[in-house]
Amino acid sequence: MLKVGMPSFKNVFFMLAFSWSNFACADEVNIYSARHYDTDMEMYYEFTRQTGIQVNLIEGSSDALIQRLLNEAELSPADLLITVDAGRLWRAQQEDLFQAIQSDMLEKRIPSHLRHPQGLWFGLSKRARVIVHSKDLDFQPKNYEDLASPELRGLVCMRSSSNIYNLSLMASLIAANSAEKAEKWAKALVANFARKPQGNDTAQLRAVASGECGVTIANTYYLGRFLASEKEVDKEMLANLEVIFPNQLGRGTHINISGAGVVRHSPNKENAIEFLEYLTNDFAQKLFSEGNNEYPIIGEVSGPIRELGVFKEDKLLSSVLGANQREAVMIFDRAGWR
Ligand code: FE
Repeated sequence: MLKVGMPSFKNVFFMLAFSWSNFACADEVNIYSARHYDTDMEMYYEFTRQTGIQVNLIEGSSDALIQRLLNEAELSPADLLITVDAGRLWRAQQEDLFQAIQSDMLEKRIPSHLRHPQGLWFGLSKRARVIVHSKDLDFQPKNYEDLASPELRGLVCMRSSSNIYNLSLMASLIAANSAEKAEKWAKALVANFARKPQGNDTAQLRAVASGECGVTIANTYYLGRFLASEKEVDKEMLANLEVIFPNQLGRGTHINISGAGVVRHSPNKENAIEFLEYLTNDFAQKLFSEGNNEYPIIGEVSGPIRELGVFKEDKLLSSVLGANQREAVMIFDRAGWR
């Protein structure tokens, strides 16, 4: 990760170091991105090839980039902040870091539940949070709510509750079932834990495959990586796992977005909008899906995650995932989910 406070953009087209002196001179767009995926480079490169607009990139964690934008304030060179969770977009919005953008193309191509109503930020790709259990599990959960069943005592593995994916999932449960029911669910779920929360989504999948636990939840792109793998160990691991899209007979599976907003003091606003629009075109959407195992916000799913099949998604407004975040933290805390 590049250090916060040191202005050092990666110039994606020429891969040269970038300095303050050539800032805002060329036809360019300056991006702060919390995405860290190889195929994004291909996406940036193609944008420059098509438009001649140079892409300058700083990567970091969402929280570090948000802090950096706060420190830089109106002197920030950033045009666009890209994050990997609606909760983070909401945090940036709460800090007043974005400006409202009006674009017919973005409004037409991005479903309304996946963008801010006034255009402060836009979802660009989706990921679903699915239940994954071992094939030989006796009690097979079909809904998130089922994970709290006493039948699963000692069988559930989860990553930490401070993880933004779990916070957003809890935010969706609060919206669907009420805070009170969501808290009951969290307490019963904690009583089902096979071990203390630890590791990332991949670690949970491995723990289920190895038999350390019976069931977990994970984002679909982690499964996509295993589906794409040629390695024998990964194939064996997948052979032990069953993927369930939860709540198919009800509200649908919880999904989250990776998205972006134009920064309040963006020096290259027009280029930032052009770049956002480009990210919704067929080429970029296909790359999100095929190259990084995410679901496109528009168009066909392609790549390994096609194998997971079609599913019904929860159409909850992405902004609610942020708005319920504080309550989600308190519920996890009271439930003893660390
Ligand atoms: Fe992730």
